[in-house]
Amino acid sequence: MANQPAPLVDYDPLACDPALTAALAREGAGDALPALKHLAALVTSEEAREHARLADVHPPVLHTHDRYGTRIDEVEFHPSWHWLLRRAVGSGLHGTPWAGEPGSGAHVARAAGFYLMGQLESGHCCPISMTYAAVPALRHDPALAAAYEPGLRSTTYAFGLAPPATKAGLLAGMSMTEKQGGSDVRANTTRAEPSREGTYRLTGHKWFTSAPMNDLFLTLAQAPGGLTCFVLPRVLPDGTRNGIRLMRLKDKLGNRSNASAEIEYESAVGWRLGEEGRGVATIIEMVSMTRLDCVLGSASLIRVALSEAAHHVTHRSAFGRPLAQQPLMQTVIADLALESEAATALAMRLAGAVDRDGQAHR
Ligand SMILES: Cc1cc2nc3c(=O)[nH]c(=O)nc-3n(C[C@H](O)[C@H](O)[C@H](O)COP(=O)(O)OP(=O)(O)OC[C@H]3O[C@@H](n4cnc5c(N)ncnc54)[C@H](O)[C@@H]3O)c2cc1C
Repeated sequence: MANQPAPLVDYDPLACDPALTAALAREGAGDALPALKHLAALVTSEEAREHARLADVHPPVLHTHDRYGTRIDEVEFHPSWHWLLRRAVGSGLHGTPWAGEPGSGAHVARAAGFYLMGQLESGHCCPISMTYAAVPALRHDPALAAAYEPGLRSTTYAFGLAPPATKAGLLAGMSMTEKQGGSDVRANTTRAEPSREGTYRLTGHKWFTSAPMNDLFLTLAQAPGGLTCFVLPRVLPDGTRNGIRLMRLKDKLGNRSNASAEIEYESAVGWRLGEEGRGVATIIEMVSMTRLDCVLGSASLIRVALSEAAHHVTHRSAFGRPLAQQPLMQTVIADLALESEAATALAMRLAGAVDRDGQAHR
C-alpha cells in the first residue's frame, strides 16, 4: 500500500541465476545441483536472513583477560555468527573439497556453495575461505598436513580454545601483514629463532590477522635463512596457550561480523612449513586460493545486489507504473545483470581451473 517492497526472502537463487547453473554443468559439477538446492533454500529463508542481520549488528568483542586478570585472548561472537559458521562448515565449504580427486568437480560445487552463502552474509566467508586455502600450502609438509588436514576437512564446527588434535573440526587463518609492510611482506620484521625442540620461537607483531579465534595460522617470519612460513596453533599440544596475544580488533568499514586482530607474538611456538627463506613461495599457495574466493565473493555480492535491485524495481512504482516497466530502469537492470553474469561465469571458470589442476591437489 505504501509503495514499499516486502523484504526479499524465500526466492530460488539457483532458478534465477542461469549463469551459475550453466557454469556448474560446464565446469563438471552438474551433479551437485540437488545438494546446492538445499543450500539455496536455506540462504534465502527468513530465518537465515535474520541470523545474517544479527551477526552483522552484533560485532565480535575481544576479551584479552578474564575477570581475575589472566590472559585469555578470546573473541566472543553473537550466536547467529556461530549459526552461519555451522551451516558453512556443515556444507563443506571450507577444506572438504581437498579430499576429492582432480577433475571431480568438488571445487566447482564448493565454489557455487560459497557464492550462495556469500549472498546471505559475507563476513563469515572469511574464515571459511582461509581454511579452504590453507590445505594446499600445508601439503608442503606431509607431517603437518597429516596432523591438520582431517580437522580442516571435517564438517563439524567446533568453536573454542583446545589443542587441535582434540577438536572435531578446525579452522585456519593467515598472518602476513605487518605495520611497515602490507603487500610488501619482505619488509616483515617478526623474528623466528630455531629452538632445541626442532620448532621455532616467534617474536614480533602482525597488523592484520583476520579470524583470530581460529585454531591455526600460517604465519610469515624472518628465520636465519630468510622469510619463512610457519604453522602456529593457538593452543599447543600440551593444552597451554601459544604466545599469541590479541591486542585489539579492527574497527572495519566492511566485513564487520568477522573479527580481524592486531596481534603480538611472545615467544610463540611455530612449526616450519617449507624451507627457510621460501616463505612467500609457500604461503602464496594459500594466498592464491583466498584470491579465488575474493573473485567468488565479489561475484556473489554483485549477484545479491542485482537480486535486491530487480526485486525493488518490480515492487516499487514511480510515475504511474512499476519501475521495472520504465525503459531507462530496464536498461539499468539489464546492465547489472550482464555484469553479474560475466562475474559469475569468470569466477566459476577459475574454480573449474583449480578443480582440474593436479598440482593444486598434490
Ligand atoms: C578486511 C581485511 C582483512 C584482512 N585480513 C588479513 C589477514 O587475515 N592476514 C593478513 O596477513 N592480512 C590481512 N589483511 C591485510 C591485507 O593483506 C593488506 O591490507 C594488504 O596486503 C595490503 O597491504 P596494505 O594495506 O599495507 O597496503 P600497501 O601494501 O601499503 O599498499 C597501499 C596501496 O598501494 C598499492 N600497491 C602496493 N604495492 C604496489 C605496487 N608495487 N605497484 C602499484 N601499487 C601498489 C596497493 O594495491 C594499495 O592500493 C586484511 C585486510 C582487510 C582490509
